[in-house]
Amino acid sequence: MSEIRQDIVTGKHVIIAVERGKRPHDFSRKEEVKEREFCPFCEGNEKETPPEVAALRDKSNLKADTPGWRIRVVPNKFAAVNPEEKLKLLQTGIYTYLTGKGAAEVVIESPDHHSTLGSHNLQHVEDLLQIIQDRFLNLSRDKEIRYVQIFKNYGSVAGASLEHPHWQIISTPLIPTVQIEELKGAAAYFNEHGRCVFCTMIAAEKESRTRLVAENDFFIAFCPYASRYPFETWILPEDHQSTFGSLTEGEITSLARILQGIIHQLEEGFNPPYNLIIHSAPVGDAQANHFHWHIEILPRLTITAGFELGTGIFINPIAPEIAAETLKL
Ligand SMILES: [Zn+2]
Ligand SMILES: [Zn+2]
Ligand SMILES: [Zn+2]
Repeated sequence: MSEIRQDIVTGKHVIIAVERGKRPHDFSRKEEVKEREFCPFCEGNEKETPPEVAALRDKSNLKADTPGWRIRVVPNKFAAVNPEEKLKLLQTGIYTYLTGKGAAEVVIESPDHHSTLGSHNLQHVEDLLQIIQDRFLNLSRDKEIRYVQIFKNYGSVAGASLEHPHWQIISTPLIPTVQIEELKGAAAYFNEHGRCVFCTMIAAEKESRTRLVAENDFFIAFCPYASRYPFETWILPEDHQSTFGSLTEGEITSLARILQGIIHQLEEGFNPPYNLIIHSAPVGDAQANHFHWHIEILPRLTITAGFELGTGIFINPIAPEIAAETLKL
């Protein structure tokens, strides 16, 4: 059982998940060498993961947990949270914590161990985004869940403990501090200016074009003005939309196109390790007129160290204007 502890000073949460400690990768770098030995995500090794909760299969084999799939979703074997946990707010001395309620799922992107997000065909990326959206909506239905985080770690430097291409989805019974900060900032801007700050940013970036990376019928991508990481790139729906859950089929096609294009470009260029995160409005807040969902692609070419940890101020050696020029599609 894990505990979601709250920092009494900052309000930030920490998940103390003792079970995870069993993973040597968390402590030592030796595991990286062993990576190629055995992969539980490869086709044929379905029995090595918990039973699948969803899958995209060819009609020839619809039997769960057997080969013949194109995308497979399974609970994380080393989950830091548990969907069956009873949610309780508890007190220990002066501190408070929540029981480790939540779901942690892994979306195995393809049966091909050596494929990458940038190498899939468009239809596959579309199918992938569709299945991720289905899981996002499914996990959002739990009444005790307040937030669902979708993310992808690519490369061991970015925290991917398995090389096989995959995404992760973790739901939490609280709204995490990063979201609270974004929501607060967005609400403050809305109250002052009467419009969504992200819509405002989109209009400004379209106008100036200096940080623009790509644009299609529904989406825009640019390197944000205050980029924390070199080549940091955001993808946003051009029309106001507060949650990833509202995306329609046609919009998913556009998203697949812009996302695959940018990732392909990164992979072909300098193939950086990266984290990809989707920031969406909290569960039950789908109509938020001040929050605009977005994808943040965060290449991990720099190491965040003492100054960043001490102050929250990032030092970025590549101006977003230069980054956008390099990435422009
Ligand atoms: Zn594999
Ligand atoms: Zn907006
Ligand atoms: Zn964000």
